[in-house]
Parts: sequence; C-alpha cells; structure tokens
Amino acid sequence: MSVKEKPPLIWLNVTLFLSSFIVAVFVAPWYGFEFGYEAEHWLWLLITFSFCNLSITAGYHRLWSHKTYDAHWSLRLLFALGGAFALQNSALHWSSDHRVHHKHVDNNDKDHYSAKRGFWFSHIGWMLRHYNPATYSDYGNCRDLQKDKIVMWQHKHYLLLAILMNIGVPLLLGVIYQDIWGMLLMVCVVRLVLSHHSTFFINSLAHIWGSQPYTDKNTARDNAVLAVFTFGEGYHNYHHIFENDYRNGIHWWQFDPTKWLIKSCSWLGLTTKLRTTSTFRIEKARATQLLKKAKEKLESKPNSQSIRDQLQKEFDALVHHMQEYYEARKEVLGEKTATVVKKYERSVSKLKYQQIKEEFERQQRSWNLLVRRYA
Ligand SMILES: [Zn+2]
Ligand SMILES: [Zn+2]
Repeated sequence: MSVKEKPPLIWLNVTLFLSSFIVAVFVAPWYGFEFGYEAEHWLWLLITFSFCNLSITAGYHRLWSHKTYDAHWSLRLLFALGGAFALQNSALHWSSDHRVHHKHVDNNDKDHYSAKRGFWFSHIGWMLRHYNPATYSDYGNCRDLQKDKIVMWQHKHYLLLAILMNIGVPLLLGVIYQDIWGMLLMVCVVRLVLSHHSTFFINSLAHIWGSQPYTDKNTARDNAVLAVFTFGEGYHNYHHIFENDYRNGIHWWQFDPTKWLIKSCSWLGLTTKLRTTSTFRIEKARATQLLKKAKEKLESKPNSQSIRDQLQKEFDALVHHMQEYYEARKEVLGEKTATVVKKYERSVSKLKYQQIKEEFERQQRSWNLLVRRYA
C-alpha cells in the first residue's frame, strides 16, 4: 500500500501518544533533577501503574474478553475505573477488538493488530490511523458483555471517567503531598506511558520474541522476561491455544501476578468459576508440538523415515498412557470425598492407579529421551 492510500490519521491518538511520550522522557526527568521526587512519588507511580495494568489483564482481558471466571460487582467496578485510568478505550471496545484478534490471529485483513504486519503496526501503528472505523459501532461479538451493567456504564461514560481518573487522581495526590506538578508528571504521564507500552508489548513483542512450546499455528510466544513487565501476560503462546484458562503461566514458578490476584480473590469470594484446562490437554499439546518439531528437523536428513516412524509410535504410546493416567488420577482424587466407597475397593483402585502411573512415567522417560535428541 502506498503512503497516499493509507487511511487518515487519528489525530487525537497521535497527539496523545506523542505528547505523553515526550513529557515522560524529557520533562519528567528534568523536573526530577530540578526539584526531586520523594518516596511517595515512586510509591504512587507503582501503585497506579499496577492498578491500571491489572485492570487490563485481570479485567479487560481475562474476565471480559475471555470469560475465564466470574467476578463480584465491586471488583468489576474497580476494573472499569482502572481500565479508564489506563486509557485503552472502554472494556466493551477493547474486548471486541481482542476477540477478533483471537479469532483471526495473524490474518492481516481481519486481525486489527496482526503481528504479521510488523512490530510497529502491532504495537501502536494500528491505533494511529482509521484502519477499522466499523469497530467503533459494531459490538456484535460482545453481546454477553452488553448485559453487564458495569461494562455498559463504563462504555457510556468512558470519556468522563478517563478524565476523572487521569487528571483527578494525580491532582488529589498532588494536593495531599503538596506537589501538584510532580504528581501530575509521575502519576499521570509517566504512569500512562509505562502502562500503555507494557500492555502494547503483548500485541507486538509477545508475538515475536520467545518460544512456542504449545503451538506454532500462530505467532504467539511464551516469554518469561515479558511476563514480568506484563503482569503475567508474557506466556502468550499458552494463552493463544488455551484462551479460556484464567492462568497464563500455569506453573507455580512462572511469574503471573494476574493469576495470583484472581486466585486470591476467590478465597475472599470475589471471584468464582475459575476455568482451567486439563493437564492432559496441556501435556498432549506440548508433546504434539515436540513431535512436529522433531519430524520437521528430520525431514531434511536422509534415511530418517524409520526414526520418524519410531517417534510417531512412541508418541502414540505416550498419549495412550497419559490419558489412562490422568483419568485414573481424577478417579482416585475424586474418591477422597466419596463416603460410600469401601476401604477394600479403594486400596485395589489405588494399587491399579500406582501401576498406571508407573507405566506412564516409564513411557514419558522413553519419549523424552528420544524426542529431545531430535526436536
Ligand atoms: Zn487474549
Ligand atoms: Zn495475541
């Protein structure tokens, strides 16, 4: 597409992104050197930055776009306020865009921020021009959200809420701590720029930089470094294959504060119906991806047919034992709560379970040994 054919610029967005960036990079440090920032400036920067980003990740993304759990109205209200503070459009608009992104990921004509159109476009470029004017009125893919009173209230009063949060909160803090300019710079501008770009990285960098342990059918990547800056959203390869899971980092050692927040809120009764993917499906996806990688690498090597056949055989056996194991485990775990099961029956089934487990682990070792050599 030539320059002339490009759709017109959205001047409001261009001005906003550009001016906030310039102020955050040049004016805010100058003010710091000239007048100094105190501990409260840094503390409130961290608090408001976390509030904004978590409202996007736990609220806009995992709650509203993907429905991975239910949330109490008080929590939804907080997310609605934090989302307006983050200045990323209303939850309804954001979710509509995001659902399109998942449905048509990497499709340059349909995915509004397709990573295949390059880093700049998927990061911020897609918001600078009128690429998709229809999205501002058609929310047909979010009919469920249109029944959420808080979502609709935020959508209707978005501009007012965004101004109140972005100007009102820093002003209030400025009055309390008697440094209006300092708080406006840190809590309004620096916080906004940090919050914007750390979220935008999920559409750009998380589709370019990292590994693909679960699928390579799309560009999404898992990246532990990005997870730190994005409150856990860096495990984007997992997220694109299992989008209905409230977790992005599924292991305890993976950095996913959004998951921790949702889980902690469930202990207080603020979140319910937390959805997860079964371990069997996750493990099967990992093994399938390893098999694919190994086969692809072997393709170019001569006389590799027999190894490829062996890999396939080991894979089939692995999936068979894996399924048997996870089914047996579910049964045994379920029995703990069943009161009618006799002690004798329980010990027999536990013995059988132990056997199945050992068989699965044996097969897993043999599979790992073979596939790691080629994948
Ligand atoms: Zn998503
Ligand atoms: Zn994505």
